[in-house]
Amino acid sequence: MGVSGSPTARLADVVAVLDGRYPPSWAEAWDRVGLVVGEPSAPVRRICCVVDVVPETVAEALDHGAELIVAHHPLLLRGVSSVAATTYKGRIVHQLIKNDVALYVAHTNADVANPGVSDALAARLGLTGLRPLRPTAPDSPAGGQGRGIGRVGQLPSPMTLAELTGYAAETLPPTAWGIRAAGDPARVIRTVAVSGGAGDSYLEDARRARADAFLTADLRHHPVSEYVAEGGPALLDAAHWATERPWLDDVAGYLRTHLPVETVVSELDTDPWTVHAAPPASAVDKESRS
Ligand SMILES: [Zn+2]
Repeated sequence: MGVSGSPTARLADVVAVLDGRYPPSWAEAWDRVGLVVGEPSAPVRRICCVVDVVPETVAEALDHGAELIVAHHPLLLRGVSSVAATTYKGRIVHQLIKNDVALYVAHTNADVANPGVSDALAARLGLTGLRPLRPTAPDSPAGGQGRGIGRVGQLPSPMTLAELTGYAAETLPPTAWGIRAAGDPARVIRTVAVSGGAGDSYLEDARRARADAFLTADLRHHPVSEYVAEGGPALLDAAHWATERPWLDDVAGYLRTHLPVETVVSELDTDPWTVHAAPPASAVDKESRS
């Protein structure tokens, strides 16, 4: 690693550790991961871990005196022809460079890693006996060794869907969105599939895995209605941020173990949904009886 005997890590050392755990070649072809901003020789003493690089999380990193932000979501995913400070993302890039803050992204390469993003989510729910929801194809760069998207495991004890929904709301990072679930509230759940982030593409994997329930984010009316009507697993729709935030503790711990750095994990909820109102219980009861 080139840091033994040295009290300070350089950015290149941090990148080597992160690339070792989340090789960029494991990312989807459309994804953009790795070092986005930064001088490899720059010293790094403090690292701020965030899901989203937005002005608020950059301000948080600056407040903490971090020299590096490790983010899950790419700041620049599509082709960019300008980072002028007159644009939203350009202003962020300016903020970073002016303040000597580097940016590193581990996205779909962290999703498929073992342990990866969904291991941290599964751990929050206390799931055990984990296996990938969709194992990585053996011929892909990330193939083998338990790597893949999502995880399937057993709850500490069986609970109804209604209980699981409350339990998930208590154990996942809090958001205005909370948790909503689709299916019979009395259904008994033992096996749970989870996938951090948008999970509609893995609905069939959860059915094939014989999960009783699948917890993910960004689910939609029609696919969910049909899936539940066809007898698929119950579905739990959490805030996207809340499903990926648990991973930040894992990556921060790994960095502290392998490098002479301090870490800060952002608790700032960057989910775009900021307000939630539940209807009066009496109105819901009346509606479900009619
Ligand atoms: Zn995501």
